[in-house]
Amino acid sequence: EAKRNGKNRISYYDEQTEASSYRRLDLEKNMRNATMNACREFEVFYQPIVDLNSENNSCCGAEALVRWNSEQMGFIAPTDFIPLAEYLGLINPIGEYVLEQAAKKCKYWNDMGHPEYKINVNLSVVQLLQNDIVDKIRSVLESTGINPKNLTLEVTESLAINDMDRMKWILSQIKELGVRVALDDFGTGYSSLNHIREMPIDVIKIDRCFIEHIAEDDFSDAFVKMVAELASTIGVAICVEGVEDTRQLEMIKRMKISLGQGYLFGKPMPIEEFEKNYVM
Ligand code: C2E
Ligand code: MG
Ligand code: MG
Ligand code: MG
Repeated sequence: EAKRNGKNRISYYDEQTEASSYRRLDLEKNMRNATMNACREFEVFYQPIVDLNSENNSCCGAEALVRWNSEQMGFIAPTDFIPLAEYLGLINPIGEYVLEQAAKKCKYWNDMGHPEYKINVNLSVVQLLQNDIVDKIRSVLESTGINPKNLTLEVTESLAINDMDRMKWILSQIKELGVRVALDDFGTGYSSLNHIREMPIDVIKIDRCFIEHIAEDDFSDAFVKMVAELASTIGVAICVEGVEDTRQLEMIKRMKISLGQGYLFGKPMPIEEFEKNYVM
């Protein structure tokens, strides 16, 4: 299997963790079909991101989050299919589909009286390491007409660790397009505080596991404070993920944190619902 997909394929997909290889084969077959079928089974949801410096924590954009409604298998959560999509290389067409949809929507919101709204799109490291990723992003900017500064690409550190210099080079080329870069899920996996200084990033998204415990656990509280302090020192913005209640919000409000995201403000929702609540 690994051979068939090329020994240089970069992926974290772990076959050992798969409970049933039949389900795995079904998933694979259906994902290939769905991808070949113009990605119509994939739907982009939008979760509001709020400006914590505004009076009512008002919406200032959204994160695009993919959903798969498989005709054969029903609803499949991204955490259940993205690792396999990465392993099979299918994350490239799926990710491009999400990027295109999301950029198009953001451009529309910008034209509809919200010129400041921004869209965040997750970019798998598999996508990031494609030779033509910069051209692909440039062509989405051109075809959608989105203002590049309103597009933020979210990347995780996980694989960057292998080849920091290559990753830095790719990210700096992306930034030359005028697009912003966010470091997602910060504080988990392969995080290094040095990445904050070394990587050409605009935003750090602190993983929601820290916010989850911020009200009970001194370590989480101190960690978020420290990262916020470091980030503000070098002019990088902070977005906290997973804000679910007002106690967490109060604690975060006292820190140097400008952006918030979580069920307290809004869950990921279909485009119609997002536009009804936050655009029209
Ligand atoms: P992520 O990029 O860190 O996205 C945030 C996840 O946290 C989303 O899960 C979101 O629904 C969830 N979340 C947001 N606020 C809260 C909260 O207050 N409480 C709780 N419990 N959860 C919250 P989701 O949509 O299931 O996505 C999971 C992961 O799948 C994402 O994590 C991202 O890594 C990946 N993903 C989703 N869409 C895409 C995509 O289009 N491309 C790629 N490459 N990855 C994607
Ligand atoms: Mg994300
Ligand atoms: Mg995240
Ligand atoms: Mg996450």
